[in-house]
Amino acid sequence: MSAVPVGGQHRRLPYGRHSVDADDIAAVVEVLESDWLTTGPMVPRFERDFAASTGAREAVAVSSGTAALHAAVDAIRLEPDDEVIVPSLTFAATANCVVFCGGIPVFADVDPDTLLVDPASVEERVTPRTRAIIAVDFAGQPCDYDALQEIADRHGLALVADACHSLGGSLDGRSVGTLARLSCFSLHPVKHVTTGEGGIVTTDDELLARRMRVFRNHGITTDHRERASRDDWRYEMVRLGFNYRLTDFQCALGSSQLRKLPAWVERRRALATRYDAAFAQVGGVAPLAVRPGAGHAYHLYVVRLFAVDRGAVFHALRAEDIGVNVHYMPVHLHPFYRERFGTGPGLCPTAERVYEQILSLPMFPDMTDDDVDDVVAALARRLP
Ligand SMILES: *Cc1c(COP(=O)(O)O)cnc(C)c1O
Repeated sequence: MSAVPVGGQHRRLPYGRHSVDADDIAAVVEVLESDWLTTGPMVPRFERDFAASTGAREAVAVSSGTAALHAAVDAIRLEPDDEVIVPSLTFAATANCVVFCGGIPVFADVDPDTLLVDPASVEERVTPRTRAIIAVDFAGQPCDYDALQEIADRHGLALVADACHSLGGSLDGRSVGTLARLSCFSLHPVKHVTTGEGGIVTTDDELLARRMRVFRNHGITTDHRERASRDDWRYEMVRLGFNYRLTDFQCALGSSQLRKLPAWVERRRALATRYDAAFAQVGGVAPLAVRPGAGHAYHLYVVRLFAVDRGAVFHALRAEDIGVNVHYMPVHLHPFYRERFGTGPGLCPTAERVYEQILSLPMFPDMTDDDVDDVVAALARRLP
């Protein structure tokens, strides 16, 4: 089994991995030697670069993808006990951000072939207390935003994208980051572009962007650099916020990484095409379906396994140093949600059933074609 060399050693082929090159390192070092480690000029520069790369008017950088979701849900001003519809098959943070803001996450089911939130299930969940929908571009494929926007418009709801999987993707030629009122991204090392930890929200709405910039800075209306430039100590805290700032050296890394995004997405697509071609010849395994018009960004490459025990396959591949994973256990089955919101089995039957079948295979730009072939061969040996 070939694997990613780390520090002269060989280790497990991971399911996802960052790429950091000499340009990235030089960009970070330059900032470390400058006057501004945080709240400096690299933050707006990264925000401009990110906005430009998605085609959105504004981008607001924060300290994690979770902070991005928190800032976005705060920006739409939930009232206590407002309901927000989220898919069940996602990372817990998609639902947690609603709870942070005093709202109630209401779990919608997913389409079994794409694992994207099913608009019909969203529609069924709408009540007079519903305020918003958070769509998750599962694995990197944009959701059916036309259907979701139609539901949102009809019921007066805000549509937020959890686009943590889909940076660089598109839908009918429209870029991810412009498909919802607010789009949230993570800059964690397994995602498309990294700043170590980090997150960012895109929007075309300047007022929402302004609100999020205040929110990430304790609810204070000016930042340190603005005060320094005015020779004034005074500031006003106008609402309750957090310290969700992203540092300048992280933003420098982000801008440097962003330049490589198009090539990385292209490489992810090539790897997916190779997996797809191989699995077309193998029974008992099916890649997720891709909707017409979707420009898939392939954060993950997920297959469904049939007539075989997924857990056994998972452990067998891990034993061969192939870093397979499972994304995700349905959020409504987590003890926190069961205890706090009374969720449980039966709420989202498709998510619950498909959860038993899914496996995420290694997918990252530095993976080789041989790595793909090794993963396919190892998986095929476990199938009936
Ligand atoms: C990664 C991820 C997040 C959270 O991002 P962090 O940067 O780890 O806080 C939220 N939602 C989804 C769907 C993710 O994949």
